[in-house]
Amino acid sequence: MMKTIDDLAVTGQRVLVRLDLNVPVCNGRVVDDSRIRASLPTLTALISRGAKVIVCAHLGRPGGSPDPRYSLAPVAVRLGGLLGIHVVCAADSVGPSATEEVARLRPGGIVMLENLRFNEGETSKDDVRRGQFADELARLADVYIDDGFGTVHRRHASVYDIALRLPHAAGYLVYAEVAALSRLTGTIRRPYVVVLGGAKVEDKIGAIGGLLNLADRIVIGGAMAFPFLAAQGHQTGTSLLYPADVAVARDYLDEAVRVGVDIVLPSDLIVATERGADARHQVADAAAIPPNQMALDIGPYTVSTFAEVIGAAKTAFWNGPMGVFELAPYAKGTLAVAHALTGSSAFTVVGGGDTAAAVHELGIAAAGFGFVSTGGGASLEFVEGKALPGLDALELP
Ligand code: AMP
Repeated sequence: MMKTIDDLAVTGQRVLVRLDLNVPVCNGRVVDDSRIRASLPTLTALISRGAKVIVCAHLGRPGGSPDPRYSLAPVAVRLGGLLGIHVVCAADSVGPSATEEVARLRPGGIVMLENLRFNEGETSKDDVRRGQFADELARLADVYIDDGFGTVHRRHASVYDIALRLPHAAGYLVYAEVAALSRLTGTIRRPYVVVLGGAKVEDKIGAIGGLLNLADRIVIGGAMAFPFLAAQGHQTGTSLLYPADVAVARDYLDEAVRVGVDIVLPSDLIVATERGADARHQVADAAAIPPNQMALDIGPYTVSTFAEVIGAAKTAFWNGPMGVFELAPYAKGTLAVAHALTGSSAFTVVGGGDTAAAVHELGIAAAGFGFVSTGGGASLEFVEGKALPGLDALELP
C-alpha cells in the first residue's frame, strides 16, 4: 500500500520533494502557476512539520545540459511569493552548489534545486547512468516524497530510481490523483464513457488499445477522429492526418467490434478552407469532407449525439478538445462536451493539464467536474491500465 507524507516522520529531516513544475515561462516570468499551486498542500504540510524541504523538478526539455532558458529560478520566485517566504534556487540539482544550499537549510526551510534535466543522468535510458544521478540526489536527503503526478509515467532518476534509495511516500497531490483515477480502472460504475480528442494523435491513439478493455463507449472527436474516418474509407480533405495512424485506427475499429465496445465517431463536421477565425466555414457530412477543406470542429448533429452518450454515462473520462477551440468558430464542440460533462451526474474526470487549460480558457469552472487531473500523459497511461514507474516505485517497501 502506498504511504503518504502523513506516514513518515519528517521533522528535522531533509525531505526531497519531486514536483511537476513544468509551467509556461515567458520573459523570465511564470505565465500560469496552476501546477505550482497544486503543490502547495504538500509543501505547507512539510514546512509546518519542521522538515528541511528540498524541491526538485524539471522545466522543458533542455536535453541534458544547462540552458538558462530553462532555469527554474522564475519558478522559485513564484513559489516563494505563494508561500510568503524566500525560496532560494541552487545553481545545480546536485554537486557542491546543491549540497551547500541544503546544508544551510533550517527546519521549516525550503530550497529549490535547479532543473533536473540539466543533467543527462535524469532521463538517461542507461540504468547505471541514471542510478549514478539518483545516488547524487539521494545524498542530499533523508526522505523522498513524490508529488509530481505529471511525471509518474517516466522512468527518470528523480521519479523512479530515487525511490529505490530513500524511504519514500506520496505527496497529497499524487495520492489524490491515484484515488480519483483508480475509480476508472477498478470497480467502474457503468456505463463508462471515454471522450478523446486533440491533435497529438500519434502520442494518444495507442491508449485506445487499453481503453477497449475498460470502457463501454469511446467517443472520438478533434483530429483524433480523422484516422478513424479514413479507416472507414472516407476522404478527410486537408484535415490534420498522419497516414501511419490510419492502419492503427482500422485495427482498433476491428478490435472494438470483437470486444463489444462502441466507438462513436463524428457524423458531421465544421469545415473550412484554412485554419483561421475569419475563414468561411460550413457544416459537412463526415463521409463527404470536400477535398480542399479541413475539418476544424465537430458539427451540430455530432454535438447532440456526443452529449447524449455522455448524458447516459455513470463514469466519464475526457482528454483532448473536439476542435480548434482557440478560435471561436471552432470552439462549440469542445464547449458542448464540457457542458455535457459538468451537467451530468456521472463521476467525471478531465485528464490532462492541456484539456483543463482549454476548459478554463472557455470559461468553465473546474469545480463542475468530479476530478481534474494535473497529468496529461500520466493520467492517460493510468486510465488505459498501464503500470507507471513512479507509482510502482512508491509501492515498494
Ligand atoms: P492535444 O494536446 O492532443 O489535446 O491537442 C490540443 C490541440 O488540438 C488544440 O490546440 C486544438 O486546436 C487541436 N485540435 C483539435 N481538433 C483539431 C482539428 N480538427 N484539427 C486540427 N487541430 C485540432
